[in-house]
Amino acid sequence: MPEKEYVCIVCPNSCRLTVRETGGEVEVTGAGCARGVEHGKNEYTNPMRMLTTTVAVKDGIHPRLSVVSDGEIPREKMKECLDYLYGIEVQAPVKAGEVLAENICGTGVNILASRSMRQM
Ligand code: SF4
Repeated sequence: MPEKEYVCIVCPNSCRLTVRETGGEVEVTGAGCARGVEHGKNEYTNPMRMLTTTVAVKDGIHPRLSVVSDGEIPREKMKECLDYLYGIEVQAPVKAGEVLAENICGTGVNILASRSMRQM
């Protein structure tokens, strides 16, 4: 992989990380601490993200409901997960924290309702 640059988001210092692979070793420069080195390596080899989006709601007081993942999802799986969530419709009422999609796309992560939604 070519050299890549990231801004570390682990703390507000926002160090600029440069990550490159040399001889099978992933090397991080620019980090102000070990947590940033770890973050740079993860971003380079297996970037993960929390997922937040909305899903359609049947009979709710609003047409869509905001949802959030209960863990991080590999970035390469994000589109598959979003496509799945765009295709579902949940039935109101929904309680905040309710699991709306279990083990989404085999990631081991659940999708939860971010808020409650009353029935119309
Ligand atoms: S490298 Fe360390 S000090 Fe710099 S932003 Fe990341 S966590 Fe903060």
